[in-house]
Amino acid sequence: MAHKCFISFKKEDQYYRNKLDSLFDDEDVINKSLDRVIDSENGNYIMQVIRDDYLKDSTVTIFLIGEHSSENEGSDWNGDKNYFIKKELQSSLYNGVGNTRNGILGVVLPEMYDQIYRGKYTCSSCGKEHNYVKINDDTVIKEFSENYYLEPHEGCAWSEDERYCVLVKWNDFINDPEYYINFAFNKRGTDLSQKVHVNINRGYIKKSYF
Ligand SMILES: [Zn+2]
Repeated sequence: MAHKCFISFKKEDQYYRNKLDSLFDDEDVINKSLDRVIDSENGNYIMQVIRDDYLKDSTVTIFLIGEHSSENEGSDWNGDKNYFIKKELQSSLYNGVGNTRNGILGVVLPEMYDQIYRGKYTCSSCGKEHNYVKINDDTVIKEFSENYYLEPHEGCAWSEDERYCVLVKWNDFINDPEYYINFAFNKRGTDLSQKVHVNINRGYIKKSYF
């Protein structure tokens, strides 16, 4: 691969994470996940530590979208069940010193196809057909959805050049990973990058959770 990747995933999706090993050379992927809470009140500091210690020289983050990686997966008294993937995506989107924003490639795992790809509908505004791609709090964390459907936005549907995040089905991805990784990488240099939205203070967790 031309670009080094960081992979953000839930432990429930370890099976797919392992399968990716056969697609990459060892030096093309960071074999590490965020595994600790960075103890600070300073969001910028937290982002920089995650970038330095985990994302390193990656330029694309692959986000595996499974059944447990949505905003609505929820939280309990210990905190946010998706704390780690939120922080991984926040720091991926964060423009750090000497380590700039990554491209984001969302890979939809097979058990999520039906939930996300909902077919076509006829638009009541323009009368044309649009694809209904359900990327919202039911299917992904906000770090992904807000940068898949960028705001502010005009018109009834989003075109590819109105998205920072790239979305692909697992089966399409494994047939040609380099193509999709390049696609996500190339979003970094565009004007779209200025529309990226990231709230680095989102997500909390109690230390006793470990
Ligand atoms: Zn329309």
